Amino acid sequence: MNLIFLGPPGAGKGTQAQLLQQREGIPQVSTGDILRAAMAAKTPLGQEAALYVDRGELVPDDVMIGIINERLNQPDAQRGFVLDGFPRTLGQARALDRVLGATGRHIDLVLYFDVADDVIIRRLTGRRVCRSAAHIYHEELSPPRISGRCDIDGSELFQREDDREETVRRRLEVYHRETEPLVDFYRRRGLFEPVRNGDIESVYRQLVEIIKARAGSR
Ligand code: ADP
Ligand code: ADP
Repeated sequence: MNLIFLGPPGAGKGTQAQLLQQREGIPQVSTGDILRAAMAAKTPLGQEAALYVDRGELVPDDVMIGIINERLNQPDAQRGFVLDGFPRTLGQARALDRVLGATGRHIDLVLYFDVADDVIIRRLTGRRVCRSAAHIYHEELSPPRISGRCDIDGSELFQREDDREETVRRRLEVYHRETEPLVDFYRRRGLFEPVRNGDIESVYRQLVEIIKARAGSR
């Protein structure tokens, strides 16, 4: 299945996409992770992206569409994927249809993580991610077994530059303006499924149920 995880920053998209990848083998395609890897390596893409990412703004659509086109045409994405953080604008959503349509594919389901702004601020300001593979933790809500170390690979945990409170507020404004219109875009196409907020495992159980129900009705 070709899935989109839609919702505000901090809603839990990455956490759930990593669980689906670990437990079901569905590749997670996180445009944020792709951009941060390019930024850490200081490639030309990374240097351009940093101008936007550090301010909590969106990277321009043409850059993002190029990245997603390349990523979704790699071999591991041919048998299904979870898009985490893409599309974020109507322009990206339309381009995604074209990218997939070119190889006879389409989106099967859009899972919407609806989480209120006050919860988001707490989640993002306490988020920590690991250096080696971007595994996701929270200081209080989802702490690692050993403070400051990733449970999975032992690498150091750090706070993302854009998870400071001022930038978080900017990202939320950008989300409401640019990305929220995608809710109606996908609802009209019958692809939209809301996921109720809850603890990490209860959200995961809901996701798996929704995905299985949709797979069964195809
Ligand atoms: P979060 O998981 O907190 O929502 P991401 O890791 O998805 O954040 O994205 C971090 C930043 O990377 C965004 O604030 C934005 O600057 C940039 N970015 C990621 N995906 C996109 C996209 N599809 N379009 C434009 N910018 C993007
Ligand atoms: P997104 O990818 O949507 O930006 P993340 O998956 O990175 O969101 O989660 C943001 C923060 O919230 C992380 O610190 C994560 O550990 C925490 N988190 C994720 N899901 C939940 C949940 N269901 N309950 C409590 N905290 C959560």
